[in-house]
Amino acid sequence: MSGGAAAPQQKLERLSAHLWRVELPVHTLPPYDHTNAYLIADAGVGLLVDPGAADAEALALLDEALAAAEVRLLKAIALTHTHPDHVGGVEGLTAHLRARGGDAPTLYVHAAEADRLPEGWRPVRLQGERTLMVGDVAVTCLETPGHSPGHLSFLLRNAGEERPEAAVVGDLAVASGSVWVGHPEGDMALYLASLERLRALAPRVLAPGHGPAVVAVQKRLAELAAHRLEREAQVLAALEGGAASLSDVTAAVYRGVPDDVLGLARQSVLAHLLKLMHEMRVMHLGDAEDGPYALRT
Ligand SMILES: [Zn+2]
Repeated sequence: MSGGAAAPQQKLERLSAHLWRVELPVHTLPPYDHTNAYLIADAGVGLLVDPGAADAEALALLDEALAAAEVRLLKAIALTHTHPDHVGGVEGLTAHLRARGGDAPTLYVHAAEADRLPEGWRPVRLQGERTLMVGDVAVTCLETPGHSPGHLSFLLRNAGEERPEAAVVGDLAVASGSVWVGHPEGDMALYLASLERLRALAPRVLAPGHGPAVVAVQKRLAELAAHRLEREAQVLAALEGGAASLSDVTAAVYRGVPDDVLGLARQSVLAHLLKLMHEMRVMHLGDAEDGPYALRT
């Protein structure tokens, strides 16, 4: 996944007029050692997406970002999804803001994942499309499921501009490699539809949950979709070649993958098989998850 040594990134970086990337140290899936929080700010007001950590280093970086963006009021925290590496700092940051005499920011999350959060957080549940104003910037909460069932992306739009300024996309996209889409947490058909949805909106920059920003947006979204369809072709080829069980298909598609990630690979292959079954291109014989599966002819 990681293509050799990456150039060191700045931990605080302004990506566009109203968007700052804040790289917080977080224990997450390799090759990453951080999760990006994003500060959307205008006219002294801020909205923070995905505070994955709130230890001393993370709080110092977040304070630095608030100062750089001249935010006097952090009015909300919004979550792309509820995986621990994206929500780990919510409580600590809220306590930190309160200790300075501020109100607790409103917490936004998709309704499909709200019940996964600890009791007492009382988030506002988003469903459908909703636009929040941050100063004069319109931040539209887009449903982009696939990596997780209630995954959201946040689209920044300015009046009079044709293309959106940016999209904060959580684990929908990354600049290199790919994100994990596996059953039952993920859904391959929905994932591809979410990529297409972003492509149609054509934001100027993508702000992913891990790694650097994506500036060649349309190209990268096309690559991410092509990567999945390539895998799908490999799954079909494995079935055609005689593999029938989920284990055999996984072994054929992910040849040489170390054992400790084979479980993740298997869930990913299952997500492909479910999509293919839905499209009536593959059938499931018997009723065990391991199959057998076969091509429909
Ligand atoms: Zn995730």
